Amino acid sequence: MTPKQSRPLWVGTSWKMNKTLAEAATFIDELVAFPIPDRIQPFLLPPHTALASVRSRLPVDSPVLLGAQNAHWAAEGAWTGEISMRMAKDAGATLIEIGHSDRREHFGETDRTVAWKVAAAIAHGLTPLICVGESAEVRNAGGAEDFVRVQLQIALSELAPAEVSRVIIAYEPIWAIGEHGTAATAAQVAGVMALINDVVATESGSARAVLYGGSVNTANATELLSDPNTSGLFVGRAAWDAAGFIALLRLAAAVAGQGVGPSTTYRRTLPWAATTALL
Ligand code: PEP
Repeated sequence: MTPKQSRPLWVGTSWKMNKTLAEAATFIDELVAFPIPDRIQPFLLPPHTALASVRSRLPVDSPVLLGAQNAHWAAEGAWTGEISMRMAKDAGATLIEIGHSDRREHFGETDRTVAWKVAAAIAHGLTPLICVGESAEVRNAGGAEDFVRVQLQIALSELAPAEVSRVIIAYEPIWAIGEHGTAATAAQVAGVMALINDVVATESGSARAVLYGGSVNTANATELLSDPNTSGLFVGRAAWDAAGFIALLRLAAAVAGQGVGPSTTYRRTLPWAATTALL
């Protein structure tokens, strides 16, 4: 894989089904006051309702990337309740989360629909953030690596080799996610992180990033980032308030060998008329 030192460390959060527009604005205002270290790549995945307003609220030259938590594979049409890749992009997304275990468990997402969505995201110039991960039962039976390998191979199956290098993969073992999850150690996840890098290397050389997610917090972030195959963290609860997110950015900066510099002054003017400031 590409040496970690030459790549940014990614730290991002999905807000899931949380935050009104006002709550999103509060988060963004706190984050904007924090100088993002150069070699850290932050990202936020607001709910669809807040995506455009968060885009408007962020300074135009902010390094923070935005994404949607899901989007449909079809370009448009009678898909009640869904949004398309094009609509997500129009609202400010450059990333599209695909295949989170919440969606696989509760909304009928399958390996096949994940593959279609990954291809649709690439076709629209978006970066798919593909979530993979096994249940406790699969892990306890010794099948974690085989399970994730198959999930990942199907997820990438609609892409040309060169396109595989544009994806981000997040390993999120189901047993480690959420309030009932058990935080993983770096040693527990190292095998799957290596496997993910190997699968992607076979297809294309390397992914844009390979992230770990599942009960990440300030107590375990540094250890999890020490894994040579981990290029960032995908965080839920611990990053839902700006102070928590910033604390994780600081830890990642320390791992990347950087301090936090002076406050950056951002331009607040937006380049496109469509981004009316909603907040
Ligand atoms: C998640 O749900 O994807 C997640 C990583 O959540 P948490 O960090 O809260 O476990």
